[in-house]
Amino acid sequence: MTDVVPPPRVPVHAPITAFAARNGELLVGGLALSRLAARVGQTPFYAYDRAALSQRVRTLRAALPAGIELHYAMKANPMPALVAHMAGLVGGIDVASAGELKVALDAGADPQHISFAGPGKRDIELHQAVAAGVLVNIESFREVDVLAHASQSLGVPARAAVRVNPDFELKGSGMKMGGGPKPFGVDADQVPALLERIGQAGLAFEGFHLFAGSQNLRSEAICDAQQKSFDLAVRLAAHAPGPVCFLNLGGGFGIPYFPGEQPLDVAPIAGNLAQLQQRAACELPQATLVIELGRYLVGEAGVYVARVVDRKVSRGQVFLVTDGGLHHHLSASGNFGQVLRKNYPLAVGNRIDTAEREVVSVVGPLCTPLDLLGDRVELPAAQVGDLVVVFQSGAYGATASPQAFLGHPGCVEVLV
Ligand SMILES: *Cc1c(COP(=O)(O)O)cnc(C)c1O
Repeated sequence: MTDVVPPPRVPVHAPITAFAARNGELLVGGLALSRLAARVGQTPFYAYDRAALSQRVRTLRAALPAGIELHYAMKANPMPALVAHMAGLVGGIDVASAGELKVALDAGADPQHISFAGPGKRDIELHQAVAAGVLVNIESFREVDVLAHASQSLGVPARAAVRVNPDFELKGSGMKMGGGPKPFGVDADQVPALLERIGQAGLAFEGFHLFAGSQNLRSEAICDAQQKSFDLAVRLAAHAPGPVCFLNLGGGFGIPYFPGEQPLDVAPIAGNLAQLQQRAACELPQATLVIELGRYLVGEAGVYVARVVDRKVSRGQVFLVTDGGLHHHLSASGNFGQVLRKNYPLAVGNRIDTAEREVVSVVGPLCTPLDLLGDRVELPAAQVGDLVVVFQSGAYGATASPQAFLGHPGCVEVLV
């Protein structure tokens, strides 16, 4: 095929480090992928690798200063078995609904180290949170009254922190969740009044929560946001009805999804947190510093696996049609918050060693052009029955996708 014009040189994906291969097959949880597919009994499926999850937390813990509390934000992946695994590895779990709260409690997470955030907590959810004894990150004046009522009727303290909508942004973040007008948290300038109300209502004030944004690969931007968050918390603490016990500085640690992206360098963030810890010792002497991470902890430990059901050529372009697609993996299709669609890293999981490549598009079975897993990617020549793997799929997968769309079967999730 020497007359084919080579594709333009494009940036490449960061290397995949969480998974090894043997005899041409990807290994997930130590199992060859085709064997795992047989064990699961169907495609498509998500598989999460326990060892990779544990290794990720170990590596991060070793980098961070001791005494920084590491939380898992379970909306990234709420699969119960995975949450139970994570609960044994991290210091706490962050939930965003009563449904997630149930999973966290079932997983054995200590209520003392569960926190609950989210912009529209219903009365019943706040009542459940007080009964469970978890920390509620208050995001409106209304929540203060509901919590006070729940505390009185249950006869237990309502543990409360204030989620602050800061007056700055996390620069270069995939999704900004603080700065400017936001439904999340309470604007920094309204927080003194909110703190007064919390004191009057007799809630058990425990601290502040600041979450500026998500999916950031620039450590200096994360350090900058952490410093500003800390400074803001110190200023607001002067208005608080009690000492700050927890200061949740948010997260935002990203993972490389797309060509040209590099893994986050955690070392400068660890150094920054060590400095903030020293400052905390005098400025907020009772405070434990918390960071909360979702995708950084679980995203690279998961794969999505779909089987090739057809191979078609249309006007010279090869299409691999798989049984999986956007209905299970909205983010890999490019429809979960991305502005410009880019490809996740893909492989043919049962042809890992094949050096020869062809340019193909990998699509799903849905009758919409949005159902695209790979747009003109280089892969080994795949045949019907082969297993296409989407890497970086441990976060925002099954539960962040419209599984009912078009009536195809749902996917299975396994922890291996
Ligand atoms: C979504 C969210 C997270 C997790 O974000 P990741 O990008 O997955 O790390 C953490 N905290 C809060 C408050 C969130 O809303």
